Amino acid sequence: MSRIYNFSAGPAMLPEDVMKQAAMEMTDWHGSGMSVMEMSHRGKEFVSIAQKAESDLRELMSIPDHYTVLFLQGGASSQFAMVPMNLLKGKKRADYINTGAWSKKAIAEAEHYCQVNVAASGASDNFTSIPEESEWSLSADAAYVHYTPNETIGGVEFHWIPDTGTVPLVADMSSTILSRPIDVSRYGVIYAGAQKNIGPAGLTIVIIREDLIGNEMAATPTMFKYSAMAKAGSMYNTPPTYSWYMAGLVFEWIRKRGGLEKMAETNKNKADKLYAAIDNSKFYNNPVDMKCRSWMNVPFTLAKPDLDSIFLEQAKAAGLVTLKGHRSVGGMRASIYNAMPAEGVDALISFMETFERENA
Ligand SMILES: *Cc1c(COP(=O)(O)O)cnc(C)c1O
Repeated sequence: MSRIYNFSAGPAMLPEDVMKQAAMEMTDWHGSGMSVMEMSHRGKEFVSIAQKAESDLRELMSIPDHYTVLFLQGGASSQFAMVPMNLLKGKKRADYINTGAWSKKAIAEAEHYCQVNVAASGASDNFTSIPEESEWSLSADAAYVHYTPNETIGGVEFHWIPDTGTVPLVADMSSTILSRPIDVSRYGVIYAGAQKNIGPAGLTIVIIREDLIGNEMAATPTMFKYSAMAKAGSMYNTPPTYSWYMAGLVFEWIRKRGGLEKMAETNKNKADKLYAAIDNSKFYNNPVDMKCRSWMNVPFTLAKPDLDSIFLEQAKAAGLVTLKGHRSVGGMRASIYNAMPAEGVDALISFMETFERENA
């Protein structure tokens, strides 16, 4: 069985070279006689793996020294609670930008801990665009501003960074981290579940400005305190060692391919081609405002929705899988993260053209 093109939104494709290397090292990592899975997280072998992964990530993203990088568990969804628990620092209010499904989840969780001011919402046009920053109503006393740079389900992405002045900016970058260079210094906290663009599920990366660590809400569980995790080098308890190792291999893979500038170039090309194919056809449609179309997740519908299941069946037969749209929006969605080769996008486009010719 050969590899297929998997357009899953997450867990998503991993680079084939990374998996081959992991397979080679599976039972005996670098002559240690052990699998990484069997290593003590405090032993010198794993500590070297962990440190290399962190320093490679720092280099890739140009993370300034006054930022701490955490390798946690619990997914981005745990961050929905950890962010308010750690960042409110006695304040009562936080600002949230609502651009779709993941924003809404972050908001619902934060409402357990503070007054959420939804400073801007894309609801009026069904979350197909991002409200202009000039229309946002940020509160003066907000502890932080939270937004979702890429809405994985709606396919809506910020191609700019909000300016929140001295109020810390918090970003759920789960589905866009490492897709392009970003200026980390503009952020208070960046977090991301690994299973989209970093590595296997089970790992959550948090990048946090040092001065924001500490002074958590009194009832914050130790496992949810950035301070406890920072102090212990993300090893307050057993970290997700194998996912951490795999993430490290992915960071190395990105470095070898030319870093985030190169990722951005490739990702933009892939996305541009796919959107052009959709826009040039009368059969496929993407509803998202051109200015904020996602490079990573491309939802599209067929002019004849009763053909959806046949489209999916024939795509699968052509080696193109997991194209079904999220149950909340229907239609199709092609997730084209870093590990999706340009050839995969080309194959999808050519399949779509054939399908249109035969069925339109
Ligand atoms: C996938 C995703 C999540 C949820 O991540 P988990 O790691 O499953 O908790 C949250 N936010 C965004 C933007 C996502 O894409």
